[in-house]
Amino acid sequence: MIPLTRELSRCHQCERPVLWTVTRAGRRMAVDPRPDERGNQACYRASPRVWHSRSLDAADAQPLGSHEHRYMPHVATCKPPARPEPPPLPDNVIRIDTKRRPDRRTPR
Ligand SMILES: [Zn+2]
Repeated sequence: MIPLTRELSRCHQCERPVLWTVTRAGRRMAVDPRPDERGNQACYRASPRVWHSRSLDAADAQPLGSHEHRYMPHVATCKPPARPEPPPLPDNVIRIDTKRRPDRRTPR
């Protein structure tokens, strides 16, 4: 099963298309939009625009079902473009952001 173009979203990191799925734990997981034999996620369309995924690596994982296809988690292939170097600072300016301690008030 291959997702329709309208079922795909864009990754915010690398801008490539991804398919959002819902795992057995009810969490969202992005996978690459085409089946991939190297992937470890069994995915299928559960209802219009809703795809389910489950890991094939789990110790108690069932083998791939006839209604499922193997997909690659997008985090395994996501390659955000490198950020360009910031322009050099003038001679009379020093960087202070590298000396700053992380802000502990806001949880990460
Ligand atoms: Zn990405």
